[in-house]
Amino acid sequence: MNTATQAPATTLPDAKKVGMVSLGCPKALVDSERILTRLRADGYAMSADYAGADVVLVNTCGFLDSAKEESLAAIGEAIAENGRVIVTGCMGDEADAIRAAHPQVLAVTGAHQYEQVVEAVHEHAPPSQGPYVDLIPQPDIKLTPRHYSYLKISEGCNHSCSFCIIPDLRGKLASRRIDAVLREAEKLVAAGTRELLVISQDTSAYGVDTRHEARMWKGRETRAHMTDLARELGRLDIGNGSPPWVRLHYVYPYPHVDAVIPLMAEGLLTPYLDIPFQHASPSVLKRMKRPANEAKVLERLKSWRAICPDIAVRSSFVVGFPGETEDDFQYLCDWLEEAQLDRVGAFRFEPVEGAQANALPDPVPEVLKEERYARLMELTARISAEKLAAKVGRTLPVIIDEVGEPDEDGDIGATGRSQADAPEIDGAVYLRNVAATLSAGDIIDVTIEDADAHDLFGVPV
Ligand code: SF4
Repeated sequence: MNTATQAPATTLPDAKKVGMVSLGCPKALVDSERILTRLRADGYAMSADYAGADVVLVNTCGFLDSAKEESLAAIGEAIAENGRVIVTGCMGDEADAIRAAHPQVLAVTGAHQYEQVVEAVHEHAPPSQGPYVDLIPQPDIKLTPRHYSYLKISEGCNHSCSFCIIPDLRGKLASRRIDAVLREAEKLVAAGTRELLVISQDTSAYGVDTRHEARMWKGRETRAHMTDLARELGRLDIGNGSPPWVRLHYVYPYPHVDAVIPLMAEGLLTPYLDIPFQHASPSVLKRMKRPANEAKVLERLKSWRAICPDIAVRSSFVVGFPGETEDDFQYLCDWLEEAQLDRVGAFRFEPVEGAQANALPDPVPEVLKEERYARLMELTARISAEKLAAKVGRTLPVIIDEVGEPDEDGDIGATGRSQADAPEIDGAVYLRNVAATLSAGDIIDVTIEDADAHDLFGVPV
């Protein structure tokens, strides 16, 4: 090569680096992914630690007072470690409280103010301008492992549950276009996603605000509606003729939820429903401003199981809501005994600043809340253990999350999840003697050998 005629090498400017601390629920995680994707398109690089970052974004959660404390602590840590901090997310709506605790923050923006947060980064860490930086196509940033992805279908909520301030923080329901959601899902699957987790504040209300506006998708008229969405997601192909696992989260039990159960029975949709029932006692539900149709729900659970025997139902409950009597709590326990839910999360009621429930009379003393919480956890752990024990001896599909290193005998273990287990919130399947070629995202058949209260143990078929 004749170096004499070679043009002088162009040195690309170092890209400015952004660190991200993402707190809160999966919806906030999706927001963090969107912000980082935008910033990377603008020429920024990501920093995995505080030290290497030109600016640190803290995506906060402001749902409960304990979450706010955690958010303020995270902001404090980022300031101590880096010093240049921009705050966004749900707690961003309380800029005064943030600035009172941490006057050094560079900027505060609220939930979903993508433009503002990106602008704040541009202002406080101007992007390096280079001739090539903006021309390099980059895939979207994902904060979850490559094999599963959250798919956000709407923002906000039209309900007004008395313990919740999400409608105040995030506004009324605003649904995304069905074709945009499906395009994103298709792109994620093409990039290696094997499991889609559909999220929103109220998944079964999807499209109510747009009157279920229809769009053409693959030559078919497709409505912005949970059933159309579920059907189309079930038509995606992960490359072997099978659909990805698709889980529906935060499903409010409207009657039309019944329509997706046959899709589960057909194998197009993962037999899993996450329905936050919150309570069962009609009087507590009334004070929570939630629909009190718990008896009907029991009937519906039975009919869902008749159509799709393997359906796993996950739910969350609040104990110690103001005015909850011992009878109300016992009603909830009896209901749970009958409902036989697969997965249950429980929370002790905590007043949230600005929530209507704070004005309700008869707060439950903390010690009683703790006692009820412990009783509920004991009951649901027993139900879960019985349900998992019934799976011993069966062969179940398992998606692999992590493959270990060989032990001294050369055996390799792995951790995965059955169709009844959503990542982060449910149990796991611990595997022994897996093939060395196994990778995260593979879906394999596993014989279940043992179970405890939350997890399964098995070996590949
Ligand atoms: S449905 Fe969920 S997000 Fe909406 S108000 Fe009730 S608890 Fe909050």
